[in-house]
Amino acid sequence: MSSPRFPRSLSRRPTLFCLASSLWLSASFSSCTPCEPIGPLKPDPPPAVTTPPPPPKPTGPTEADARAFMDQTETQLRVMWSYAQRVQFAQNTNITTDTEQLNAQAQEQVMELVGKKIKEAAQFDNVQLPTELRRKFDLLKLAQDLPSPPDANERAELAQLAASMETSYGKAKYCPPRLKGGCLTLDDLSRTLSTSRNYDELLEAWTGWHDLAKTLRGSYVRYVVLANKGAQNAGYADVGAMWRSRYDMPEEAFAAETERLWEQVRPLYEMLHCYTRMRLRQTYGNRVPETGPIPAHLLGNMWAQEWGNIFPLVAQPGKSQGVSLKAKFQQKKTTPVELVKMGESFFKSVGFDPLPDTFWKRSMFVRPKDREVVCHASAWDITSRGDLRIKMCIELDDDNFRTVHHELGHDYYYWYYRDLPLLFQQGANDGFHEAIGDAIALSITPSYLQKIGLADPGTQVEDTTFLLHDALEHVAFLPFGKVLDQWRWEVFSGKIKPEEYNKRWWELRTKYQGVAPPIARTDADFDPGAKYHIPSNVPYARYFLARILEFQFHRALCQAAGFTGPLHKCSIYGNQAAGDKMKTMLQMGSSKPWPEALEAIAGTQKMDGAAMLDYYAPLITFLKDQTKSQKCGW
Ligand SMILES: [Zn+2]
Repeated sequence: MSSPRFPRSLSRRPTLFCLASSLWLSASFSSCTPCEPIGPLKPDPPPAVTTPPPPPKPTGPTEADARAFMDQTETQLRVMWSYAQRVQFAQNTNITTDTEQLNAQAQEQVMELVGKKIKEAAQFDNVQLPTELRRKFDLLKLAQDLPSPPDANERAELAQLAASMETSYGKAKYCPPRLKGGCLTLDDLSRTLSTSRNYDELLEAWTGWHDLAKTLRGSYVRYVVLANKGAQNAGYADVGAMWRSRYDMPEEAFAAETERLWEQVRPLYEMLHCYTRMRLRQTYGNRVPETGPIPAHLLGNMWAQEWGNIFPLVAQPGKSQGVSLKAKFQQKKTTPVELVKMGESFFKSVGFDPLPDTFWKRSMFVRPKDREVVCHASAWDITSRGDLRIKMCIELDDDNFRTVHHELGHDYYYWYYRDLPLLFQQGANDGFHEAIGDAIALSITPSYLQKIGLADPGTQVEDTTFLLHDALEHVAFLPFGKVLDQWRWEVFSGKIKPEEYNKRWWELRTKYQGVAPPIARTDADFDPGAKYHIPSNVPYARYFLARILEFQFHRALCQAAGFTGPLHKCSIYGNQAAGDKMKTMLQMGSSKPWPEALEAIAGTQKMDGAAMLDYYAPLITFLKDQTKSQKCGW
């Protein structure tokens, strides 16, 4: 690994001062003496009249200095990030004391280098730079999720905390006395949440997992203090303000933008909530209140964030339940690798490149039997030059089929911007990165499934059945996607104190999502920590934006494909024009402000929830009709 060198612009500074002084000295020779030794035998200077004085030069760093600094920074960051990514991938796919330690050290080195570069870059704050170069400096300031505290001991402590919270989460197991020493992983508990219809069994799985997060509370409180010191060192009020500054607009404007988008789609969410609650009462009776929030463990998901797993409970009785991929996968004895191949073949059908051979060799597709791993699905480019991988513990079901498309969307973004300068190798904003694969997955229509043999020919699926199932995933997610960072913004800003963390978590979740904890919670609990993105420090507003953007992308791609029917029936499978449109945007990376990238694909610079409402138009009519007699809201 290269050790950071002293920036050239700083080492050159004395020369610049000397030049400036010697200019001033044409009238007073002696003042240049600090620069050159003066001997008694020095010849006479040449006659001054023949050479006019050169034009004045700036005294501070120049554009050329800034460019040289940035070139060197990008080179060093590429080396460091590749190394840290490699270590993190090794740790994520094999958690041991040693890999955890190595990962913490690598993260610490990253923090140190980025923190140092941000500090040094400040010397160019007042230098006039071309837009593109200035953008790199702006992106450098925002280049880390976990900002580096200036004190070396605190930096090491923060890196250690971050690594240990992530591994604690990855290793956590619930060991109920009834199993006499046997333990349940998050996968096991999630399976119960998604399939069981027994209220008490669900409650045990929910409580078992959430109680495990208590142990993270102390670490999290300390991590907030240290990470905020890092953010302040980089010039932000706190970590939340730093995260909100990544959207090519003032941070307050971004908070308002998320609120605007939420207000656009809120009526649709409230209708879905109303209908779901009404139907759940048919299974769980009065344990689901008629007009209050829904108990959070009854929605088929550990965090009540996506509700597709309870579709059989809320589907219309007597109607076809649509296509079950899980059954089809079982019947066809599909393997996890085949599932990923199906995902790849969609991208290839719109003209994307095949995934590199190394992807198939280096990815992790299933939970290994012999070691601990972080199962949370993720996508990687270790070298930022196309060493693509995904890491998943694939289960053969509908959810995982979509997740594979989601992760491949990340990998294709990495792939198509891999030749850009390093700091432009990011999504136009982070919501874009999350929305690519999801937009593609919106093309997994019943007719597409028939085309690839995952649904029987002639299978008829009613629009409302298909859209209801779909909305339980997409629409149900919206308030959760918003709330998670809203809570975290308040935590980082100090608006809420550690003793109020859990209480405020549930206030926000109840307010936006209309869900409530199924049993009493106390200040000692730390329920936010039961969600991966909290202990692993991944900003979350991106997922909310992605839910809005994926529909906007889908609508634009369908238009590019010349599709004119109802939006939910469109699949861009096999359409090169749509693929080209998406590729154009992917290749831009973050080289331009995101509104320009959005314009390249969607012809507008504004994020807009209306595409989502278009897509669900038939469902909106259905839900209104079904809930006529209900008192909706909570
Ligand atoms: Zn993602």
